[in-house]
Amino acid sequence: MKSLSLLALAMTLAASPAALAATPLRAAQLRCEHLPAPAGVGERVPRLSWIVESAQRGQKQTAYRVIVASGADALAKDAGDLWDSGKIAGDETLNIAYAGKPLVSGQACFWKVKVWNKNGVESEWSPAAQWSMGLLQPEDWKAEWISFKDATPLHADRKNLFLPPARYYRKPFESKQPVKRAMLYFSALGVAEMVLNGQRVGDAYFESGWADYRQRTFYRAHDVTALVRQGGNCLGAVVADGWYAGYVGYGLLVGYGPNRTGRNIYGKTPALLAQLDIEHADGSHEIVGTDATWQTSGDGPVREADLLMGESYDAQREDPKWCTSQSAMQDTMLNLPRWNNAIRAGDNGSIKAKFFEPGVEMEVELGFVKPPKLVAYAAPPVRVTEELPAKKITEPKPGVFIFDLGQNIAGIIRLKVRGAAGTRVQLRYGEMLHKDGTLMTENLRKARATDFYTLRGDAGGETWEPRFTYHGFQFVELTVVAGVSDPGHSIAEQNITGLVLNSDTPMTGQFACSDETMTQFWKNTVRTQKANFIEIPTDCPQRDERLGWMGDAQIYARTASYNADVAAFFTKWTDDVREAQRDFGAYPDYCPYPFAHGAPGATHGTAWTDAGVLVPYTMWKVYGDTRLIERHWDSMQKFMEWRAKADPELKGVKIGNTWGDWLNVNEATPIEYIDLCYHELSATLMMVMADVLGKPDDAARYRERCLALRESWRRQFLKSDGSLTVDTQTAYVLALENRMFGEPKEARAAAALLAEKIAKNDHRMATGFLGTKPLLLALSENGRHDLACRLFQSRKFPSWGYEVEQGATSVWERWDSFTKEHGFDGTTGKNNTAMNSFSHYSFGAVMQWAFQTLAGIDTFGPGYKRILVRPFIPGLESNPDGKPLEWVRAEYDSIRGKIVSDWKRDGGKLEFNITVSANTTATVSIPSKDAGSVRESGQPLDKAEGVKFLRIEGGRAVIEVGSGAYRFTSGG
Ligand code: BGC
Repeated sequence: MKSLSLLALAMTLAASPAALAATPLRAAQLRCEHLPAPAGVGERVPRLSWIVESAQRGQKQTAYRVIVASGADALAKDAGDLWDSGKIAGDETLNIAYAGKPLVSGQACFWKVKVWNKNGVESEWSPAAQWSMGLLQPEDWKAEWISFKDATPLHADRKNLFLPPARYYRKPFESKQPVKRAMLYFSALGVAEMVLNGQRVGDAYFESGWADYRQRTFYRAHDVTALVRQGGNCLGAVVADGWYAGYVGYGLLVGYGPNRTGRNIYGKTPALLAQLDIEHADGSHEIVGTDATWQTSGDGPVREADLLMGESYDAQREDPKWCTSQSAMQDTMLNLPRWNNAIRAGDNGSIKAKFFEPGVEMEVELGFVKPPKLVAYAAPPVRVTEELPAKKITEPKPGVFIFDLGQNIAGIIRLKVRGAAGTRVQLRYGEMLHKDGTLMTENLRKARATDFYTLRGDAGGETWEPRFTYHGFQFVELTVVAGVSDPGHSIAEQNITGLVLNSDTPMTGQFACSDETMTQFWKNTVRTQKANFIEIPTDCPQRDERLGWMGDAQIYARTASYNADVAAFFTKWTDDVREAQRDFGAYPDYCPYPFAHGAPGATHGTAWTDAGVLVPYTMWKVYGDTRLIERHWDSMQKFMEWRAKADPELKGVKIGNTWGDWLNVNEATPIEYIDLCYHELSATLMMVMADVLGKPDDAARYRERCLALRESWRRQFLKSDGSLTVDTQTAYVLALENRMFGEPKEARAAAALLAEKIAKNDHRMATGFLGTKPLLLALSENGRHDLACRLFQSRKFPSWGYEVEQGATSVWERWDSFTKEHGFDGTTGKNNTAMNSFSHYSFGAVMQWAFQTLAGIDTFGPGYKRILVRPFIPGLESNPDGKPLEWVRAEYDSIRGKIVSDWKRDGGKLEFNITVSANTTATVSIPSKDAGSVRESGQPLDKAEGVKFLRIEGGRAVIEVGSGAYRFTSGG
């Protein structure tokens, strides 16, 4: 594994059991603004968090002390020259607002924390952590946006791709004094890789990230102290089109954008802003910033660089000295690339073009426009997080070699080849193969997904990794398209390794159960999540789409939070969502919204648009991040006003795009019904959030709206016998999940009707994206857990198990994206191959149910301070089609520490191994007739340490515990 995230590393270092036993409580996993060691934090008052660990039962934090120092030495001496909180009584470990000296731009901050346990015993200091501040005010930017003289006409040809070379920039400079600290800040309209003295800066891809460049752009910060030296240096950059000027989404397919080409969506010519701040030992600063004295070249090795289409690299054009000090450069023999002076980005002048979209034909400015805001990047960077050597190589046609990674991923490859100079290798990417073993690319639509590499001809072979593109793939097809590969050695010596790219969200979940197929399905969700959490939550990585589809995101956000710590990732994306909100209040179909928004009624749809409320709520619930919902509040209010205006009678309306229960299996639910349910869900969550934010009037207003919507639902859809006028599985599921039925009895009766419907459908689901996500939750919570488990374990179409049995290593867009019997045509022979992604997370949202009911791990209120461990055990008859579940094991590294729920049947007994994180309280609820038949570590409950029996309720023993590991047995 190339890059373990810092948080993952901290977790590994922090959790040694011997060390834990010696210390009754200690702080670990220090984070600033959700990240382990962020550079360039944009929050003037950053928030600090940690977890506390203890092997003891019932351990708690009763006080803490944070110190923040301006240097590592000061911190080592326990001198908090920036902030010493002193001993503060309290158990809070999350989002403690920094309260020291005001932090200035670029400030380096080193910090640690100690805690006091429930007995008042003081811990050691935690390991040191750090963060640094970004450039907090616009005046801090001394550099200028630069570009190259771009004389090419604006691309207007829809038939042929336009893929310009990446641009190289450089600036040799002298640093006259010894370097104490050097920080590099930069931003790109496009995607950039910064280089210092020939070395790549950091390990992130696609910096500085995707924003709506018309409104803002991100900047990044890197500590480059180790790369700058006294004397001659060179700062360089390679800048490619990225989202700013390259092909975006399905723009080319449907004819969106300037000249309908799907490219140059935000502008014509990429631009760079970079500023290196060198601090000398005497405290003086020297700034090297982009300006017109920089040199630029379009003759470097990266000949094409497009996120969707691919990269083309000519290694013969490499000049190892292109970014070295002035004197070293003069030795350059190659004299390639040719260098010119850069220009101020604005000097390319204005370029007006017609922007097209259905209902829109408007003139836009594609020349350089200075982004109104430069914003610190708040998410974890995109990195290589896994390396996968090819498992198999085949040659379906002479000279066409297919490398199989064994699993469907998103990312790039490392190519190793040996051959004559000038040999050109073509690499195509696909998720599946045709029957004859050739690459299946029909589902890529307009994404060319092809890279090219031209060999230098090194005798010992050469290695290459693309940098400015990525693909969704399992298979790589290699062909030699020009020149002759070294005839002296076989293709097997040439080698491909898959490099998994994703926004490096620390992984937090583990799930396994006795049904291996379903354990495999969970692994598929993790893989698919990684493949789609690249910069934003995308729908799919392979075809010309990769958009932040709102419906998919809201369906999957909670599952995502079990699999990984997505707090920072979604913090960044919620800003994108807010920025993309339409003037009249609706949130568009996908965010960021790169296009022109079409006609007023066109770019939003029920359940998709509600993601603007659902996702912030989910982040608050999982991570306790009140600031996130506070910042999003006005925007959500505006959304709710629009929703009320769009449906003044609160009946449920057909508005905007009407996907509804997208990809349902022959059972469409009327859009008005879905709209009413989603409106009610948004209003309920607004009510909760208003309460959290201390806004009782708003809470009351949303409560009223909820009640009115429920009343309207009853009036329109509920029959006197408790059944619904809309007779679909999804109709029942949405009503159950939204608690539309007043009494639990009514809900149970509705669940029984739903169960009957499913039984009549041969125990198969008919639900689409919207209905499937809450289906199993609705069943389990309303007395039909056995049926939920039966569906979970089903192997019949449509089901998760069916997909795995058809060979899925990832989650598919359709249950039958591929079938062994009918190939890509689906079970009915009618699938749409172009809309057939093999990496689509929406149907993976069932893992929320698996974590919450099979393992039973959930939070009461926000941020896992009060935990619920309530495993639902399927009956022995739950799976007539196969074996019922015998055991389930899940682990979850919550924002406050590890929770484990692990149960198995042991003869007539049930055994539960449960671990609860320190400083929290858990309500454990396990099946039992009476308290007497439950034991903890062999002891009756009243004798067990740290265990408090509360009551028997609904056939379950409800027990309260604090931190620690417990072994409960029940029955027998
Ligand atoms: C995406 C979906 C998305 C949908 C809207 C598709 O192209 O891939 O996942 O939600 O459009 O119906």
